[in-house]
Amino acid sequence: MDVGAYLPLIAALIALLLGLAIGKAWERYKLRDGRWIDRRKARDSQHYVLGLNFLVSNQIDLAIEELSRAARVDADALEIHMILGNVYRERGQVSRAIQVHQALLQRPKLTRLEHSYVLLCLGLDYKRGGFVDRALEAFKETLRLAPDNPYALLYLEKLHEEQHQWAEAYRIRRQLVELSGPDTQPKNQAILGFLENALGSDALKEDRPADAARHFESAIAHDAATTPAYLNLGDVRLHAGDVAGAIAAWSQLIDVAPERAHLALARLEQLHEREGAPQRFVERCRAFIASRPHDWRVRLMLGAHLTRQGQAPAAFDLLLEALDQNPHGLTVHQAIWATLLQLDLARPLVQRYIEAARGAVFFLDPHVCLKCHYRSTELLWQCPHCHEWNSFVEERMAAARQASAEL
Ligand SMILES: [Zn+2]
Repeated sequence: MDVGAYLPLIAALIALLLGLAIGKAWERYKLRDGRWIDRRKARDSQHYVLGLNFLVSNQIDLAIEELSRAARVDADALEIHMILGNVYRERGQVSRAIQVHQALLQRPKLTRLEHSYVLLCLGLDYKRGGFVDRALEAFKETLRLAPDNPYALLYLEKLHEEQHQWAEAYRIRRQLVELSGPDTQPKNQAILGFLENALGSDALKEDRPADAARHFESAIAHDAATTPAYLNLGDVRLHAGDVAGAIAAWSQLIDVAPERAHLALARLEQLHEREGAPQRFVERCRAFIASRPHDWRVRLMLGAHLTRQGQAPAAFDLLLEALDQNPHGLTVHQAIWATLLQLDLARPLVQRYIEAARGAVFFLDPHVCLKCHYRSTELLWQCPHCHEWNSFVEERMAAARQASAEL
């Protein structure tokens, strides 16, 4: 499926909804204000309805044509011009969008609410055009006029995130938490957790380990699933000489997020090797594998470890188990090749591998964003495409032999 094909439609729908929301608010405001100019003329025109229909069916050129006609029926119809500007922006004509929206700002009798919506549209234009400072200013100005506008807060937060201004992003997310209902709390806590984790990483870079540790602990308190915070907290504690504390943080990660256990185990492997007790790492892995029969990452990890320790026969069995769970993982195949080489390509073992691997299709450790389907060869905490936090899952496909058996 080509997700990219849907994006213009989604963008157009957002533009449309924003325009409609403005139209509604505008009408309410008119009534309250006692101003009663008949602006329904433009909205009642067939051009307006046709334009919206074209917009929804993603026929953007026709939509622009009809909406422009509707706008000419009544030059005062603010929301039609606003939608037109949004459509220009969404199809990449940013300077044209800016022109349209800036012209609306020049209108003499804009209400406070109208003014705030036009600024919001302008901010989106600037953002799209890459004018970050002007976009920031426009969103801030929107919020000065309408402090609870959730769109402005959301876009402002994202801009700060893109600039790695985590403290500002965190402050805005707290505002959004106060504005939103209880059903969005888990999502909000998860975002706050990742922002705290980012603040901790910054503190670490600035050599403030105590602050960093506090941020990482706070990240975990916001949401126990903030996986990187456990890793970072362990790192800080280890650096401060608190070995038991580091082990505690990493062990906690293994308990709360077993699908990410390999990240903590990689650190424990290093630690125990440095302590001269690699057997402790092997025991941890064995205990984990015993409780998670479908895991392949820890089997892979332990297999590679044993190979390095010169225990290739034991490693080979583990790696074949990992292959059975994840036949497409190139990293598993690579580890098996290394192990087979150490065993001087013992013919019966090579034979077993070839049989196990038959039908496997190679992918390089694929991960996919659940929100936008962006693919990455590694696990990322924030999607570089849609900027969602913690949206990556590993991509798993049925083994080729299973699929063909089902046909
Ligand atoms: Zn994404």
